[in-house]
Amino acid sequence: MRVRVGFGWDIHRLVEGRRLVLGGVHIPFPKGLLGHSDGDALAHALIDALLGAAALGDIGTHFPPTDPQYKDADSTALLAQAVHLLAQQGWRIGNVDCTIVTEQPTLRPFLDGMREKLANCLGVPVESISIKAKTAEGLGPIGKQEAIAAYAVALVEERA
Ligand code: MG
Repeated sequence: MRVRVGFGWDIHRLVEGRRLVLGGVHIPFPKGLLGHSDGDALAHALIDALLGAAALGDIGTHFPPTDPQYKDADSTALLAQAVHLLAQQGWRIGNVDCTIVTEQPTLRPFLDGMREKLANCLGVPVESISIKAKTAEGLGPIGKQEAIAAYAVALVEERA
């Protein structure tokens, strides 16, 4: 069986007046992520990891930020489209491992909700989705609560 690995990274500015959405889950917080879509950095990193594993380009290729149809888009819907693209090329998802880097808010209470949401989206068991949260130890723009970043790796397998 052929297996491939992909990597994705994303960062968005944390600003007033936006809903904070990560992994498709709304997190009550006074600020949210700026973006053309809903700014879901975790979903975006995961899309790039999946597309990367299949060498299908990147999120900007498939969902250009200049396209009005993606204004305030639910990024988990884009993720589902990416999964469909991979399926069309004969790939199914093995497992994914993600890390979100944010100083605030504390994400631990929301991680299982994100795992369930992403598992549904990817069509895999929740045990195949790992999401970790770290702080930046007060360093840099993330440490100053100006941004949230996310990293993801994904393993994909050739369909039998
Ligand atoms: Mg993004």
